[in-house]
Amino acid sequence: MKNKFCNFLGNGLYISNSSSDLKIAPCCFYQNPTIIQNLNDNLSNLNLQIEKLLNDNSKKNLSHSACNTCILQEQSGIASYRQSSFSYKSHTKNEIVALTIDIDRKCNLACASCNENDSSLWYKEKQKFGLPVKDSVITMHNENTTENLIKIIDAILQLDLSKIEWIKFGGGEPLLSTSHLHFLTKLSEKIDTSNVTVNYTSNYTVIPKHNVFDIWKKYKKIELSGSIDGVYDQFYFFRWPFKFEKLQNNIKVLYDNCPDNVEFKIEHTVNPLNLYYYDELEKFLLEKFPSNKFGVPNYINIHPCWGHLGLESVNQKVLNLTKDKLGSDHKVVKLAEQVCDSTELNTKYLDNLDQMRQTNWREIFPDIEKYYV
Ligand code: SF4
Repeated sequence: MKNKFCNFLGNGLYISNSSSDLKIAPCCFYQNPTIIQNLNDNLSNLNLQIEKLLNDNSKKNLSHSACNTCILQEQSGIASYRQSSFSYKSHTKNEIVALTIDIDRKCNLACASCNENDSSLWYKEKQKFGLPVKDSVITMHNENTTENLIKIIDAILQLDLSKIEWIKFGGGEPLLSTSHLHFLTKLSEKIDTSNVTVNYTSNYTVIPKHNVFDIWKKYKKIELSGSIDGVYDQFYFFRWPFKFEKLQNNIKVLYDNCPDNVEFKIEHTVNPLNLYYYDELEKFLLEKFPSNKFGVPNYINIHPCWGHLGLESVNQKVLNLTKDKLGSDHKVVKLAEQVCDSTELNTKYLDNLDQMRQTNWREIFPDIEKYYV
């Protein structure tokens, strides 16, 4: 098809299970996924459902509201996922080129921007404090066993993956469990993976073992994207209970020990609290980790936060202060301008986090906290 809007519409597949159902979509940012209910009963139909999704997306390869994240990024001058989709070859409708597997919710962090749907530690924290959790989420965590994950992965391995160029693992923390390793090992037994790039969105708490490095060497490139939303106490507040000093140490160990085909990237989620401090993160990364040991520059991928810390809640005065500090053409400012509306930041949520974790968000973000009441 000529003049495609996005190469992932028809050749991209995202698979996620953030409740007891399975979600499939062309990519992780697509806002109108297909839901497959009662996963265990429908696992044998997965191929048919995926084939239908790829066909439908291929026929309607147009800009629409479900692609709003990419549209906003591009309007803010930020490179979008849609644009990156054209770095992969375009194939006929049923051939998967880019695959995201986002099914394993094991996580050792309970990030301020996250919740019990995506993190097993958040789920445990909610139970510890007697906070309500939906039945579907309880079921999902109960069923997030290695045995069940392997069943889903084996079903994915039945798909035609002969044209695959890029695989992404989401989470949870994907390096905490063995499901990624199971998939990569089996895939490397089925197809030539020397042209396949693998991407992990990781919290950088885990240093992989040598058996992981051995499998990684069978692939073209490994992109290790670390989620870093701030520095020092701000990092700790967002990525609780991971200390910034430990993060710095882990980055160094990863740099020194990962195989030569590993490239490091930073995923930065912009929210109403960290917007003003973006220059501090950039300064830290430029000074300490400008490139990997082979001189490949580290890339900072910026996107808006949604949920409790949604960027739409940025206060106008905070936005103006950030403009004064970073400049009105700065990509972070432009992103916030695209997203912000009159929604108020939920400060009660932040106060509750403080109570649960003995933090003090108002002391941690002293320049801007007074604008959030
Ligand atoms: S335009 Fe963006 S959101 Fe839509 S399918 Fe492509 S990458 Fe996904």
